[in-house]
Amino acid sequence: MDEPGEGANEAVAGRRRVVVLGSTGSIGTNCLDVVDHLDDRLEALGLSAHTRWELLLRQVERCRPRYMTVTDPKTARRVREERWPGCCRLLEGNDGIAKMVQDPDVDVVVTAIVGAAGLTGTLLALEAGKTVAVANKETLVMAGPLVMELAASRGARVLPVDSEHSAIFQALRAGQASEVARVVLTASGGPFRGRKRVDLEEVTIEEALRHPTWSMGPKITVDSATMMNKALEVIEARWLFGLNPDQIEVIIHPESIIHSFVEFRDGSILAQLSPPDMRLPIQYALLFPQRLAGPARRLDWSRLDTLHFEQPDLDTFPALELGFEAARRGGTCGAVLNAANEAAVSRFLDGDLSFLDIPRVCRAIMENHHYSPRPTLSELGAIDRWARQEVVRWTTTKTCSATR
Ligand code: NAD
Ligand code: MG
Repeated sequence: MDEPGEGANEAVAGRRRVVVLGSTGSIGTNCLDVVDHLDDRLEALGLSAHTRWELLLRQVERCRPRYMTVTDPKTARRVREERWPGCCRLLEGNDGIAKMVQDPDVDVVVTAIVGAAGLTGTLLALEAGKTVAVANKETLVMAGPLVMELAASRGARVLPVDSEHSAIFQALRAGQASEVARVVLTASGGPFRGRKRVDLEEVTIEEALRHPTWSMGPKITVDSATMMNKALEVIEARWLFGLNPDQIEVIIHPESIIHSFVEFRDGSILAQLSPPDMRLPIQYALLFPQRLAGPARRLDWSRLDTLHFEQPDLDTFPALELGFEAARRGGTCGAVLNAANEAAVSRFLDGDLSFLDIPRVCRAIMENHHYSPRPTLSELGAIDRWARQEVVRWTTTKTCSATR
C-alpha cells in the first residue's frame, strides 16, 4: 500500500479552502464547527443548503464564503428577497454546485447532502479533480465502482467521513493492502438493540428517532434503528477500500467508542477509539494527513469502564443481510437497495409504512429487480426511479411488479 500521506504535507501550509455541500445538516454544521475552530488552517469557500435558508444565511454571515448555493428552486427564489453579505454570490441548483466545486481555489469538497441527491455533487467534485471528503455514503452504495474509477482517472482523492470508514482508513495506514485479513465494522445497535422482532411491530417514529449514542439527521437515524445504516456501510467499505465482501464483518459495540477494526493477516488487530463525535473524522478528512488539536470531545479514561461486544441479531434486523448481499452481487443491487430504503424511510416518517416493513419492502424490490452487473450512470438513475415507484406500489399492494 502506498503511504497515503506522502506529498500532502506542503498543501497544509496555507489554509485549505473547503466547499460544504449540505452545510445545514448534522454533518454540515459539525463541519463548520471544525472550520471555525481551525480557522488558521481551514476556510469555507462555498456552502449549499436545500430548504433551511435561515440557517444558511446565518452560516454565510459567520463564514463569509465566496458562494452559497440553494438547491431547492422555491427556496432559492425566497432567498433572493433576503439580504446577505455582498461578497457572497447566490447560486442555484446543481449548476450552483458545479460552479462552487469547480472553482480552482477549492481544495476539499465535503459531500454532506443526504441520500441519492448527494451523488451529483460528488461526481462533479471528482470530475474537477478535487479531494472529496465523503459523508454521503449513499453515493458509494449506489455507484461505488463508477465513483472510485472516476477518482482514479482524475487523480482525485476520496477520503471517508463516516466514523467507521475513517477508523478503517486510519488503521490501514499500519500495513499493506495485501496484508489485510478483514475489517470489522462496529455498530451501536441503535435504539432497539436487544429487542426481538415481535417487539418492533408497533415502533413509533419518535422511538426510531431516539438514537442512544449519535445525534444525526432523521434519515440516517432511522437507518441506524433498522441497521440499514450498517448494511450501507458494508457496501461503502467494499468499494472505498476495494475489499472482498467476505473480508467485512459487523459487530455490535453499544458504547460507540471503538469505531472499527482492521485485522492483518498475522492476526494483529488495529482499532481507532474516540468518543462518538463526528467532528473528529470530519477534521481528519479535512486536514489529512495532519493531526491538530481540534474541537472534538476527548475520551475521559477515568470514566471508561467496560467496552461491550455482541453479535448482530439478523432475525430482528434483517436489513443487515441485505447489505452483505448487495456487496457480494454488486451491479445494480446497491442503487436499488439505496433507493428502496430512502423511499421506505420517507414513507415511515410520513406514517405510511411500518418500521418492520422497511427491510421487507427493500428485500422484495432488490429480489425483483432486473439485475445488471455493470450499469452506467444513466442506468443507475433509471433503476433508482423504478425502485422508488415500486415502494409506492408495494405500500398499497404488498407486491412488486414482475421485473423491470
Ligand atoms: P441531515 O438531514 O442532517 O442534512 C442533510 C443536508 O442535505 C442538509 O444540509 C440539506 O439541506 C441537504 N439536502 C437535503 N436534501 C437535499 C436535496 N434533495 N438536494 C440537495 N441538498 C439536500 O443529514 P446528515 O445526518 O447530516 O447526513 C448527511 C450525510 O452524511 C448522509 O449521507 C449520512 O448518511 C452521512 N453521515 C451522517 C452522519 C451523522 O452523524 N449525521 C454520520 C456518518 C455519515
Ligand atoms: Mg457510520
